[in-house]
Amino acid sequence: MLVALIDVNNFYCSAEMSFRPSLKNRPVVVLSNNDGCAVARSNEAKALGVKMGQPWHEFRNLEEEAGLVALSANFTLYGDLSDRVMSIAAGLGHEQEVYSIDECFVSLEGIPGDMTARARAVRERILQWVGLPAGIGIGRTKTLAKFANHVAKTADRKPGSYPGELARVANLADLDGAEVDRLMEATELEEIWGIGPRIGAQLRADGLATVLDVKQMDPATARRRWSVVVERTVRELQGMSCIDLEDAPAPKKEIACTRSFGRPVRSVTQLEEALSDFAGRACEKLRRQGGRAGQVLVFIRTSPFRKQDKQYSRSVVVPLRRPTADTGLVCQAAIAGLRAIYREGFNYAKAGVMLLELQPAVVQQEELDLGDDTSDRTDLMAAMDRLNLRYGRGTVLVASSGSGALPRDWHMKQERRTPRYTTHWDEMAVARA
Ligand SMILES: [Mg+2]
Repeated sequence: MLVALIDVNNFYCSAEMSFRPSLKNRPVVVLSNNDGCAVARSNEAKALGVKMGQPWHEFRNLEEEAGLVALSANFTLYGDLSDRVMSIAAGLGHEQEVYSIDECFVSLEGIPGDMTARARAVRERILQWVGLPAGIGIGRTKTLAKFANHVAKTADRKPGSYPGELARVANLADLDGAEVDRLMEATELEEIWGIGPRIGAQLRADGLATVLDVKQMDPATARRRWSVVVERTVRELQGMSCIDLEDAPAPKKEIACTRSFGRPVRSVTQLEEALSDFAGRACEKLRRQGGRAGQVLVFIRTSPFRKQDKQYSRSVVVPLRRPTADTGLVCQAAIAGLRAIYREGFNYAKAGVMLLELQPAVVQQEELDLGDDTSDRTDLMAAMDRLNLRYGRGTVLVASSGSGALPRDWHMKQERRTPRYTTHWDEMAVARA
C-alpha cells in the first residue's frame, strides 16, 4: 500500500484569506457558533499565543493591541471550498477517503510515475485554483502518511525543524530507513495519529518520548500493556498496513462518513438511503465521543476517472436548529441537503456526510422547548447504539423518509461572518477594474 494524506493548512483561516488577501500575514482567528471561542488560527495568531478553543473574551484585547482579526465561522464557504479541494485531490489516485473537511487520504496503488512530482503538481493546483495552501504526506500506511504530512507542514512553517526539501510535500518512500528514523526521532510521540492525550501520557510515564520510541516497541508488548489500538499503531509505524482506507478513528474537529459506491448510483432514492446510513454512522461516532454537531455537510460527486461520464460535484452545508447528536434530525438535514444539490442524469460515484461545528454535549445551553423537532431522544439514541453494538451494525435504523425544507439558521449569532462568496449570488465577490 502507498497512500497520500492531503491536508489544508489552517483551513478555516486560509479559506477566509483566499477571498480577502488583505488578511494574509495577519493574525486571524475564526470563532465558533455564537462567536464563543477560537476554532481556527492563522500561524500569526498561533504566534500571539491564542489557544485552540480559547474563549473570545480572553483574547479580545489583541484586536486593539495586535491587529488581530476575528471572524465568525462561515461553514457555507468552508464546505464549498472543501468540495473543490477534494475534487482536485481525488485526481491523485484511484481511491479517496474524505477524512475531514480539509483532509483526505488517496490511495496511490497502481499509479505509475514519480509520486512526489505528482503530489507537488496537485498541491500547486489546489493553491492556484482554490487559493488554499496544503501539505501532502506520503507513506506506506495511513499512520505513516499522517506522520509525513506533519513533517511536510512543520518543515514549511518552521524552517530548520526538518530537512527543507521535505517542506510542503514529504514522501517517506523516497527516503531510506535511517532517514525516516531520524525524522521520527525528531518528533514528539503526541503527534502520532490515533494517540490521544491519555495514552500519550501513559507512554511518557513509561519512558517513551518520540515517534521513533513508539515505532521500536514490540507489537505484542504494545497490545499486552495498552491495547490492540496501540499495537495497530506500532505496526503501522513499522510499515505494516492495518488501517484500511475508509476505516479511521474519529478526528477531533469534524466527523466524516464517506464512501465510494461499488457501481455508479443514479437515483435520488438510493442516494438518500446511502446518506442516511452515513449520517447514522457519523452520529454514532459523535455520541461515542460525547459530542453534538451544529451543522451537517453533504456532498455527492461523479468519478473523475470515468472520462466518458458527464461530471458533477456539489456539496451543501445544512445548519441544524440547535446542536444535536440525534440520528433522526441529522438524517433529515442530510436528506434536505441532498435534495437541494441532486441533479438527475449523472453517474454518482461517491457521497458523504460530515458533521461540523462539534462541541461537547455538556456545553449545550438549555433552551426553551419550541415543541417542534427538539424532544430529547438521548435515551432512545443510547438504546439504539446498544442494540447495534450487541446485534451488529444496522440492526436498528431510522426510517429516513426525510421531511420538510432546509432548517433555517435564524437563531445563530454570526456577527463577523464573511460573505458566502461561492454559493450565494448576492454575496459573490465583486472585482472592479
Ligand atoms: Mg488542516
